[in-house]
Formats: sequence, structure tokens, C-alpha cells
Amino acid sequence: MSRFHSTLSRRDFMRGIGLASVGLGTLSSVTPRFTDLDEIISDEKANYKQPWWVREQDQGVTEVDWDKKQTFNQAQYDNRVAHLRPSPLDDEYRTLPGTFVSELYYSNMKTFIQENKPGFSLRDRGIYWGWASPMIKDVLGYRRAGGIGSGSGESFTGYDFLDLVDTPESIGVPRWEGTPEENSRMLRSALKLMGASTVGFVEINDNNKKLVFTGSSLVGKPVVWEDTENIYQTNEKQVIPNKCKWAVVYTIRQPLETTKRGPSWISDGAVGIAYDQCDIVQYRLQAFLKCIGYQAVGGNIFGLGPLPAWGELSGLGEVGRLQNLITPEFGPLIRESKFNLIDLPVAPTKPVNFGAQRFCHTCLKCADACPGNALQKNREPSWDITPKYDEYVKPELFNSPGHKTWYFDHFKCRKFWEESASFCGVCQGTCVFSKEKLQSIHEFVKPVIGQTSLFNSFFYNMDRAFGYGLHSEDIENWWDMNLPTFNIDYSEKPYI
Ligand code: SF4
Ligand code: SF4
Repeated sequence: MSRFHSTLSRRDFMRGIGLASVGLGTLSSVTPRFTDLDEIISDEKANYKQPWWVREQDQGVTEVDWDKKQTFNQAQYDNRVAHLRPSPLDDEYRTLPGTFVSELYYSNMKTFIQENKPGFSLRDRGIYWGWASPMIKDVLGYRRAGGIGSGSGESFTGYDFLDLVDTPESIGVPRWEGTPEENSRMLRSALKLMGASTVGFVEINDNNKKLVFTGSSLVGKPVVWEDTENIYQTNEKQVIPNKCKWAVVYTIRQPLETTKRGPSWISDGAVGIAYDQCDIVQYRLQAFLKCIGYQAVGGNIFGLGPLPAWGELSGLGEVGRLQNLITPEFGPLIRESKFNLIDLPVAPTKPVNFGAQRFCHTCLKCADACPGNALQKNREPSWDITPKYDEYVKPELFNSPGHKTWYFDHFKCRKFWEESASFCGVCQGTCVFSKEKLQSIHEFVKPVIGQTSLFNSFFYNMDRAFGYGLHSEDIENWWDMNLPTFNIDYSEKPYI
């Protein structure tokens, strides 16, 4: 049974949507009779697909004479070669071997870039190259089928398809040059088009360099820094050029309604699709930077380093008890705060404090809900990693000491994944900050949490009373919800 039955009366609901002042008596004559939200949701009219001004009719608006209509074999289709030979246009317009376009296209492309034509500059060309990423999906699909896993080693240098990307050298123009501030603005705009929601920047120093992994369990060779021009890898190592002195960090959103219907394969779908988005956005960034004369070191599914930490360093959120990044906009409903090391100078963004971690001190909602008992329930964070609790588990293999937090037990978490045949995600779906901005009074609550911890317990209790969080008992109704594309409301405006 849905939680709405017990938490909201019809009167409360009407008041909530601002209709109470009209008078419920008056409303009764013009509105359908519902006793609670579940009835509203299950009514067939709640499932409407089009606005009222879109009429349904029996035939399409285009008239068709079905007697004259013939089938068409697309194999005979030609919009180029068959019309060129013989013709004066032949050489200029014919597709160049191994490409999709003609000599004319290439010569115009170079001219437009050299002339800095609006919409056709070098950096605009970098945006264009985002289109090639569907091709890496084939590669990913192939590699996954081969059991190698998302990204594997190839994401580090950026997949073979980057060879197709135009470069300043191939076009015959100088590479893009901008101030760090201009470059930050440019990357933020590019990444948002590519699929990222929020974007931050970090300048690499001796301290945060320790948050770049020195190897990857997926790739099985060391990651080292060298004085070299280009990112490269051999059978022995993966090499980050020392000139990659900046990190660009970006969030990929994960949908609320789908995530909180877990643990299930539906919530797993939300996770997997968000991971795919991470791969796609990363590839697009690598292509973009290559086109304007720079480079980005790519990470596989585990990332180039602990991703929540980079999210915090770049000001995209705070690491919470659940050991994910809690963002001001979307809470922990992201996968991931992905980062890439780049050699394009950018202006760093500062870390933020909006009271999330402080809220975690008195809120244990995720830890209480964790079916694997993997999250810490201590009120205060600690410098101590997960204590050794039996002779087999080796916490030093999954916890990296040196920061004060609620270290979590990755083994217990993973054990539950096996038991439940799912990737769980209950902590994400449960977190008090896992809300959509327009959904609730949360936009009022967040500024208060950001200023004082006085009301944290009150807000925690309210959150429970309102029945927010997991909807494990409503998993099946996801199929009838008609959610937005990617199940995400992208009309919400990020703060950054
Ligand atoms: S994914 Fe599940 S088992 Fe793992 S920490 Fe989160 S709630 Fe616990
Ligand atoms: S559920 Fe509560 S304790 Fe857990 S991460 Fe969210 S705010 Fe922190």
C-alpha cells in the first residue's frame, strides 16, 4: 500500500496545491472526486500523454492515397553518387574514401575555422565531435560482452575513435588559447551540452595528487606521472603527463523515482544508464579537448581516484555518511562526480559547506536502512578505518586512511549485492537529501540546514513522517508512472 494513504488527506492535498481557498464545496462540482493521492494517480486521466489542445483523430493530418502508395527499398536510396556521375560536381562533392563527407566539406571546414566564423570556430568544431560517441557504445558493448568492463584501459587515452577527430594540426590553425576563467566557462558550457549537470575545477598540487589512483583493478598496471607531452599507455604502465595540472569534475544525475524503487533491477537500470552517461560524457570531453589542441586523461568505471573526494574538492558537494557526494541540488542522486585530468588551464572552484555533513551527525537514516549493515552508525566521523572484525576481512583493501569520515565496509556492501542479486543503492534512495527540488518543501529546508544545525533533528523527523525515501514496496508501479526522459526532471536549475 502506498504511503500517500496514511500521510495526506484530500483536504491537505488541495491545500498543498493552493486550491483550498476556493472552498472544497465549490471544487466538488468541478473536480473529480478523489479521496486521496493514490486514487488520483491511478485514475486513467492521470496518465494523459498530451496537452489538452492536442486532439486525437483517426487519420494523420497528411493525406495518403493508399492505392497509389508503393513500398520503397532503402537500398536503392542515393543522395549523392548516382547524381554526380558524370557531372561537373563529381570531384568536389563525392565522399572521400573512409569519411562521411566530401573534399568541399573539408575545404569549407578549414576556411570557416580559419575565419573564426560564428558557430564554426575551432572550439565549435570540438562540440561537433560529441556526435561520434555513439560509436564508442559499440566498442563498450563489445568489451562488456568480452567481460573486460566499462572503459577498461582504453578510456585512459580516449578510445581509437579519437583518431577521427580533427585537430588544430590537421586543420592548419593554432590551438585554442583562453584565460583560465574563459576556459572554465567554455568547459562548463560544453559539458552541460554533453550531459553533465554541474561542473567544478581543481588545480593539482602535491596534496590532492595523492587522490589519483596509482593503479586500477580493471587494467592491472601502474598509473604513473611523467614529463611527457601526451597521455600514453604501454603493456607495463599508464602515463599521465605532468602538464595535466588541472582536474575537471562533473556530475551525472541518477533519477530519484527509479533509484528509490530498489533494491531491484529497475534501480540497477538507473545506475547502469548513469554509468553509460559517464562514459559518453567523458569520451565527448576527450574529443572536444583533442579538437581544440588539449587532452584529458580518462578513467574507467572506478575512476582515476575516489570520486566523492574530487566532488568535494571542486565544490560540487560534501561527502556524507553514505560515503557518496551529497550535492546541494540533487543530494547523492548522482553517479558520479566524475573527474578527468586535463592540460587546459582552468580556474579552480572552491569547496562548499551547505550543512550536509553536519546533518549526517544526527541523521542515521541511510545507515539504519542499509540492508548490508555496511554503513557506520557512530554519531561523529572518525579517522579510524573499518575495524577488523574477523580473520578474513581486510579493511585496508577497501578503506584508505587519512581523512575523517564514516568509513564504510565495502565487503559487507558487496556481500549484500550478491545476496540480493542487485547493486542495492538503498542508501542513495533513502538519503534525506535525495529529493527533486520542485518536489517538496526541501528548498525551504536546505537554506536553514546550511545556516544552523539547530533544526536538523526536527527536519529528520519530518522527513520520516512524510514517508520520504525508499519505495521498495512500490517497485512495480514504476511501470505505470510515465516518467520524463531518463526519468529525470532536467528543468531544475543547478546552482553552479
Ligand atoms: S549499497 Fe546497499 S548495502 Fe551498500 S552501503 Fe548502500 S545501502 Fe548498504
Ligand atoms: S541519510 Fe542522513 S546520514 Fe545518511 S547520508 Fe543522508 S543525510 Fe547523511
